[in-house]
Amino acid sequence: MKLLLGSNNKHKAEEIKAIFDSKLPGKIVLLTLDDVLDDAFDVEETGDTLEENAILKAEIYHKVTGLPCIADDTGLEIDALDGAPGVMSARFAGEHGNDTANRALVLDKLTGVSYEKRTARFRTVICYFGNSGVELIAGTCAGRIITNERGKGGFGYDPIFVPDGFDTTFAEMSAEQKNAISHRGRAVTKLVEFLEKEIGV
Ligand code: IMP
Repeated sequence: MKLLLGSNNKHKAEEIKAIFDSKLPGKIVLLTLDDVLDDAFDVEETGDTLEENAILKAEIYHKVTGLPCIADDTGLEIDALDGAPGVMSARFAGEHGNDTANRALVLDKLTGVSYEKRTARFRTVICYFGNSGVELIAGTCAGRIITNERGKGGFGYDPIFVPDGFDTTFAEMSAEQKNAISHRGRAVTKLVEFLEKEIGV
């Protein structure tokens, strides 16, 4: 089946495509906005929750293209910051999508916070929006925020996040390692089960 990913984030597209290719080989053609729209416009994330933003994006792109669509919204929830940046993760430092500034602000706000108290989790919510219905699916990954950036892989907050049970940041892992344990990997694995059972892929 053809499935549209309602995002302009190439890293997300690569991660999700790799999981579909390994779990549903040959069954999903994952299209990106560039493939189907002349103007691959961004949707403003005006929701108060990850769930609202995921629905907002999936619904608009489904209505504009007529294709079944998935959209994800992800937040980094840091306990010492009372769950921030959370739904504000993309624009924590002000400008939307400035990953370098966002990471620097997190590290700055956690200055002096002990290793034990630097606990955090990524949470991804994926919305599937198709003619046959709407489904929300979540995945989380717990870990800690370290004090200095490490690694060149991944994107976003990956260089400052070490998942529980590992010594390496997400940015120091291969794409396969990150996908096997990440918030998005877990959510997409549940999405695969939904597509198989409910949509009959
Ligand atoms: P969004 O889901 O694209 O709105 O992402 C929200 C924020 O979280 C952005 O700053 C992303 O760079 C960041 N982000 C999303 N997914 C990941 C991830 O898998 N690792 C690290 N940062 C991420």
